[in-house]
Amino acid sequence: MSAKRVCPRCEQDWAQPYRFKADGTCFLLCAECDSLWWPHETVGVTQAHFLDDVVAARLGVEGDPWGDRVWADVIEPAPVLQR
Ligand SMILES: [Zn+2]
Repeated sequence: MSAKRVCPRCEQDWAQPYRFKADGTCFLLCAECDSLWWPHETVGVTQAHFLDDVVAARLGVEGDPWGDRVWADVIEPAPVLQR
């Protein structure tokens, strides 16, 4: 496990391991600005995805996916980042 990485976008929080509860897919997430990185990606500004976009795509919804759900319904912190 590598050292914790400060989020390069907001520099206010760490890029921490999370996973989708549905299938265990892991990713790195900054809970401050909702930036997301897949395990094989470099944690950088230009590589950042947005959690809302990724969740909306996975759930097959348009726009804001959080109308009737919260983070804990979809994702949870992961103990380690599994590739
Ligand atoms: Zn951030």
